[in-house]
Amino acid sequence: NGVSGHAPLPAYKETPIDEIPQIHADLVKSFRTAIMWPLAKRKEQLAAMANMMKENADAWSRAIYADLGKPELQAQLFEIAISNQAVNAIHELEEWTAPIKPDVHERHSEWQPTVYKIPFGVVLIISPWNYPLTLTMQPLVAALAAGNCVVLKPSELAPNVSALMAELVPKYFDPRVVRLVNGGVKETTRLLELKWDRIFYTGNGTVGRIIAQAAAKHLTPVTLELGGKSPVVIDPEGLDFTLVAKRILHGKLANAGQTCVAPDYILCPEASQKPLMQAMTAAMSEFFEETGGKALNNRHYGRIVNKRHFKRIKNLVDKSKGEVVFGEKQTDPERYAMEPLVIKTTGDDDLMGEEIFGPVFPLITIKDVDDAINFIEDRDHPLSLYVFTKSEETKQKFVSRTRSGGIVFNDTMEQLAVGLPFGGIGESGMGYTVGRAGFESMMHLRASVDIPYEHEEAVSLRYPPYTQEKVDI
Ligand code: NAD
Repeated sequence: NGVSGHAPLPAYKETPIDEIPQIHADLVKSFRTAIMWPLAKRKEQLAAMANMMKENADAWSRAIYADLGKPELQAQLFEIAISNQAVNAIHELEEWTAPIKPDVHERHSEWQPTVYKIPFGVVLIISPWNYPLTLTMQPLVAALAAGNCVVLKPSELAPNVSALMAELVPKYFDPRVVRLVNGGVKETTRLLELKWDRIFYTGNGTVGRIIAQAAAKHLTPVTLELGGKSPVVIDPEGLDFTLVAKRILHGKLANAGQTCVAPDYILCPEASQKPLMQAMTAAMSEFFEETGGKALNNRHYGRIVNKRHFKRIKNLVDKSKGEVVFGEKQTDPERYAMEPLVIKTTGDDDLMGEEIFGPVFPLITIKDVDDAINFIEDRDHPLSLYVFTKSEETKQKFVSRTRSGGIVFNDTMEQLAVGLPFGGIGESGMGYTVGRAGFESMMHLRASVDIPYEHEEAVSLRYPPYTQEKVDI
């Protein structure tokens, strides 16, 4: 059915601009036939997604490697395993979609009060390059489970994955339900002129604003899954730095720091900085033993996606007024790979001005937990907040006095493993994805009552004339 073993990967091609309105019109038409209303149809399409992942695992790995240099196991774990979400949605579908029969006042109980969960209609999903498969398929699962028809617009910056998707989507999905458009700014701009029933965008905040503005023209609801600078806070009392170092590094090494919830910078009291850096160096020796504790040329470490991002991150490092306190400034400009670094600096450094999205940590000195809380709340709300602490009181302080998309204690990125609601707040985005919360963001709660004619007496008060007698009853 799919792309077998070692067949060459398909070439990337933009969808012709003039075909885009027809793709939209086709789905608008098929949605109106209620094609996705039966749960059996939704299950069939969700199963198609799972099969598309599994039957082409090798081709997906090769495409992901070609685009991002991701180690194969990482691609299996963090991308191709997205098929599990489709399988889960199939299991949960009856429960998720069941109309709600709310408890109401006795006098309304015979009015059949029901809340139907209806799909929005035709949904546009625009996704980025950093987890090109996961971030396209995850919202697709939610949209299909809720009964929508979908147009996918994967990233032009992961051309091998996007080309493979363009080849496989028509082979696995019903073309009346799921279609794909490939292209960059030109094609996406054309897509955004059309009237969608919901737009789900994952990417940076600058483009997020373009999406929100385009959506506003049609009052289209949007989910924006954006990024930002996710802090790591060290409250050192009683911590085992060997474990802390490994757990922080894991978040920064995965996909060479190009993860929306990657820890961006570290807030740490002065006295704990040296022991933390030493523990991180020890962890590197363990992780990358075969290359002498260096990540750069190790097969278990990825690279930066392209020249533009490589130069952007290198510039931030070169211009920084901070001091390198972990790692060495080493790069491989041919492969766009970079050795991980920690740079000790202050809040006004350019390194603190934008999401780094690469393997570099600014390290900022804080006095204590309250100082860290103020530092975080003075800035845009991050997508994730990582607090390493043994104190329950400190944990509750962070829960109640800071805002972020998610909050994780004593590890990084593991919130993704649990299937919890995922979404940003403020600059890190709006709306949710993953599991039931993802499903709920792709449907509308449609309230319904059916009022028996025999109940006329009970409702007749509302008719004019409005007399004092009626008020007194
Ligand atoms: P990207 O460059 O691939 O852009 C994302 C999408 O926007 C692409 O499909 C692209 O074609 C489209 N696009 C680009 N310019 C456009 C324009 N002018 N008009 C319309 N569409 C346009 O990816 P990116 O933005 O570099 O992705 C990285 C960012 O995404 C980071 O900020 C990261 O934190 C964030 N991110 C967030 C999540 C999340 O779930 N919250 C996940 C991954 C990445």
